[in-house]
Amino acid sequence: PFDVLVIGGGPAGASAAIYAARKGIRTGIVAERFGGQILDTLSIENFISVKETQGPKLAQALEEHVKEYDIDVMDLQRAKRLEKKDLIEVELENGAVLKSKSVIISTGARWRNVNVPGEEEFKNKGVAYCPHCDGPLYEGKDVAVIGGGNSGVEAAIDLAGIAKHVTVLEFASELKADQVLQERLYSLPNVTVLTNAATKEITGTDNVNGLTYTDRETGEEHHIELEGVFVQIGLVPNTEWLEGTLERNKFGEIIVDKQGATSIPGVFAAGDCTDSAYNQIVISMGSGATAALGAFDYLIRN
Ligand code: FAD
Repeated sequence: PFDVLVIGGGPAGASAAIYAARKGIRTGIVAERFGGQILDTLSIENFISVKETQGPKLAQALEEHVKEYDIDVMDLQRAKRLEKKDLIEVELENGAVLKSKSVIISTGARWRNVNVPGEEEFKNKGVAYCPHCDGPLYEGKDVAVIGGGNSGVEAAIDLAGIAKHVTVLEFASELKADQVLQERLYSLPNVTVLTNAATKEITGTDNVNGLTYTDRETGEEHHIELEGVFVQIGLVPNTEWLEGTLERNKFGEIIVDKQGATSIPGVFAAGDCTDSAYNQIVISMGSGATAALGAFDYLIRN
């Protein structure tokens, strides 16, 4: 069996695997898509100490670093079941069952899409999901935020300090965000809030140049000219496969303690799949390291 089996090959998983392997213990990593979300990212400017890099380049560097160690890498494999017996068993979609003394779950998350024409086409060309990451690219420009919940309104407040103007589009008849956030939002001079607004299409040629929405009250269609669209309708953790096993919060995020421990002894978790406050590359890598050190502590005590 493995001493540490990592499920997920994004920044959190790669970091966890390296930290575990450096303890000289038997380490494996299962990943559906090694690299994770950074494979879909173009420019990264907040991975501290690296002024600028591209997602695929960082993913390759992660893989090379992992391969420096004696780590059993099982790429293109998806875990579908976890069960604690004597050892912890992880079953893969291909039927194989892996056994390990400890497991680190780092299966990440995915942004919910609006699924309108233009979204896929203009990803990284004006369609963005992370204001902390891409906000500065829209300095002095007109942008929209789709979604009027807490994350949408937080993004709009954040972007209002950088962009020239921010339009918030909420599908329902009112914003869903906390009152204090709404008050803050409405106090800003360069923000317009549209409720009952159903986004119909994100338009552009090479890059985004606008957005078309339907006013759900009048049925009328409107077009706004802008250069960036931030989609903020939810970040979903990839934890469905853990249903009925360890403790998750109402968003489906795995609840972890300071050591990255979950509600199942010997099972740890790190990165975007957990209830961490923020989701960023540096944060995921840090929590991956924490979970690996937590797992090592567990192993020397059991
Ligand atoms: P992920 O990167 O999501 O990796 C999850 C891993 O688990 C993947 O390997 C996946 O294939 C695997 N997996 C999932 N389910 C299973 C399963 N059942 N079995 C096996 N493997 C599974 N952050 C920044 O700090 N700076 C940025 O500039 C930045 N830009 C971003 C731009 C975009 C477009 C996106 C989407 C995100 C961006 N982020 C950025 C956020 C950052 O990418 C994430 O916070 C980070 O990748 C999270 O790392 P993770 O390892 O927790 O999860």
